Amino acid sequence: MTKLGILYIMVRVLVATERKICVKRGCPIVCDNGQRIIKKETCENSMDIKETKEKLNKTYGSVKEKVLGKLRSVSELGKRYIKAGAVCAAILTAGIVISVNFTPVYSVYLGGEFVGKVTAKSAFEAAYADVNETISKLDAPHETIGFIPDYIYGISLRRSVTDEYALKSNIANLSRAVRPACYISVDGNSVLCVSDETKAKDVIEKIRLSYGGEDAKIVSDVAFTNGFSHIRDITDSGLAGMNLASKINVETYETIVYDEPVPFGIEYVNNAEMYEGQTKSVSGGTNGSRTVTARVTKINGIETARTEISSAETVMAVAQVIEIGTKVPSGIGNGSFIDPTFGMVTSRFGARWGRRHNGLDIANDIGTPVKAADDGVVTHAGYDGDFGNLIIINHNNGYETYYAHLNSMDVAEGQKIIQGQKIGEVGNTGYSTGPHLHFEVRKNGVPTDPSKYLN
Ligand SMILES: [Zn+2]
Repeated sequence: MTKLGILYIMVRVLVATERKICVKRGCPIVCDNGQRIIKKETCENSMDIKETKEKLNKTYGSVKEKVLGKLRSVSELGKRYIKAGAVCAAILTAGIVISVNFTPVYSVYLGGEFVGKVTAKSAFEAAYADVNETISKLDAPHETIGFIPDYIYGISLRRSVTDEYALKSNIANLSRAVRPACYISVDGNSVLCVSDETKAKDVIEKIRLSYGGEDAKIVSDVAFTNGFSHIRDITDSGLAGMNLASKINVETYETIVYDEPVPFGIEYVNNAEMYEGQTKSVSGGTNGSRTVTARVTKINGIETARTEISSAETVMAVAQVIEIGTKVPSGIGNGSFIDPTFGMVTSRFGARWGRRHNGLDIANDIGTPVKAADDGVVTHAGYDGDFGNLIIINHNNGYETYYAHLNSMDVAEGQKIIQGQKIGEVGNTGYSTGPHLHFEVRKNGVPTDPSKYLN
């Protein structure tokens, strides 16, 4: 009966805490924090509080009535039992509290120096061996620690048990060569070793702040790893960050205001008096100016991005005006010719060396422009024996003009040409003794003296 009573009270206490519990007899009750309560999902026998309450009321309801019935009728002796039970419960609770918060520990001493509290000697032995192995690897095998540990057994708060890194650090501090250290790595490369993580983070923060602006942001991948290092490799001086700074990318942001020119546009206007393809600028155009506010992003002080926030045009740009000819060439000459090129006349029309010279030779450098003497249509543009590169223009008024020995030709057969249009360049092709233009004027197919038509 007493057992049932205590069980009932305990179960009610558990229910009252509004936890989920396992009610299966013999179920290994283990909870998330080591206490005798269980999460539903970790025990197939658990059930919701409501279900539990119902089941408990059903299962133990009669027991409860029996217990209460008995209790109501007990004598003073019975009441003393109840008091004794309460004392036992208090002791039990205290016992649970102690077992949760306290644990047996070994306080470990090396050469009289306290190095930590461990729950098992093996934990210390492993840390000790690990530190000595590290010392050997750090090129200081003669500096390994050789103390025989002293253990003092006792009870301690669980939270005062020394963690593994602190334990190793305390051991390492007894060596002459090795100390706990924090390695700073940048983008995967270890670049600096300082004595601890606080100093490491401080170095990085100083680098960040050195770029000014609280919103400066480190964009390199910086990582801190606690470990151990040879004393000679630990850098804690103020210069620690100097070398590091060059390896770390820091992004900064600033808002700037500046004026910049606004390029003028071009306005095209048709001109029916000018031929197709001809253009003429009739007014120059002037740049405007605008004031821009922009956000500039820099990495290590060098601009990497600029985003315009706002702008205002302070001086309006004035467009350039260009006229475009729309007149279609007729392909019919007006009957008067202009000089096809310029230079020295080296041979005139007429008898030469016993033969008749059908044209006028005008000598000049290769590349000198050659122009159509009048409107017309190109009837030939190609290489032709002694003429070399030859253009023939039919003026559709009985006249044809010939342009020979050209270095290059700008027109094609069938193309309508206007007077003065560049058709090619002076050359030395075909039968020619030097760069010159051989120019002919043929009237109804008969060569005539070009001099008669030129100024
Ligand atoms: Zn000639």
